[in-house]
Amino acid sequence: MDTQQIKGKPIAEKVYAECLQELEVLKSGGHLPGLAVVLVGDDPASRAYVGSKERKCKELGLHSVKIELEEDCSQETLIAEIEKLNADDAIHGILVQLPLPGHLAEDEVILKISPAKDVDGLHPINIGKLAMDDATGFAPCTPLGCQRMLIETGMGISGKNVVIIGRSLLVGKSLGLLLLQKGEGGNATVTIAHSRTENLAQVASDADILVAAIGRPGFVTEDFVKEGAVVIDVGINRVEDASAKRGYRLVGDVDYDKVAPKCAAITPVPGGVGVMTIAMLMANTIRACRMAEEGKELEFRR
Ligand code: NAP
Repeated sequence: MDTQQIKGKPIAEKVYAECLQELEVLKSGGHLPGLAVVLVGDDPASRAYVGSKERKCKELGLHSVKIELEEDCSQETLIAEIEKLNADDAIHGILVQLPLPGHLAEDEVILKISPAKDVDGLHPINIGKLAMDDATGFAPCTPLGCQRMLIETGMGISGKNVVIIGRSLLVGKSLGLLLLQKGEGGNATVTIAHSRTENLAQVASDADILVAAIGRPGFVTEDFVKEGAVVIDVGINRVEDASAKRGYRLVGDVDYDKVAPKCAAITPVPGGVGVMTIAMLMANTIRACRMAEEGKELEFRR
């Protein structure tokens, strides 16, 4: 089968081009979108993610602020920072880099972010809006990126049988809600599978669109995949590789070499979904600014 590789970069570039157009309009009206990223501790992967978000803000010309807190900072200190950012009119998007150190209560921290600035889309109000098909909220960035890739691939979502392996709010469950919504990019028939799902390979092999968001290298093998399916691999896993410069390489949740020949289209890792997350974060931040300038943040207070 001729397999299409769905690369993230050209789709992300398209999102950035749209962002630049919107930015021009906002800037001409004297408005500059601002994103604040809060980093607690010194986890190298989190630091790298925060660094790439900062770089992308600079590249596009967004206002960007990085708040760094010590690993042992208290819940009160972190919440006080969030409240300052909530009150700062130059900041339209607030992202707390997850995971937080174990002594901090993530759910409580996310609840403190103003829903109108919650560009990561994890506040219960935004998750509720997603579940209610209310487009005034923010959806999480990785699911938005997956949906955009599926739209751009042009193989259709409406009416398709989608199986998502993974039920995290950050990825699987939110993507399920997005693809289930009425309207463009939605109307799919969605199954969300997880570690307790029985006959997983059989369930997955019914999918027209199979999404892997598990966190296990090469978990999805060819017996999970129907001939002609579209496969989106969200997984980013480090596996040891003595021949690699850093001593490891990144692989997805899908055993690409075995699965790709059966697919109509598949995302690679790296080079697939990964770059879409930051693109959708930029898009959400710009939209948060536009909504604030239009007074639409009031939508969150209904
Ligand atoms: P997570 O919170 O750990 O969730 C993993 C999900 O996979 C859970 O629902 C879990 O089921 C399910 N699972 C684990 N083992 C399974 C098994 N043997 N069979 C079936 N299901 C199984 O992870 P996440 O945050 O969703 O991330 C998933 C992957 O995506 C990771 O590799 C992560 O690095 C990657 N990721 C990538 C991006 C990106 O930008 N591309 C963004 C976020 C995450 P239970 O709920 O039953 O435990």
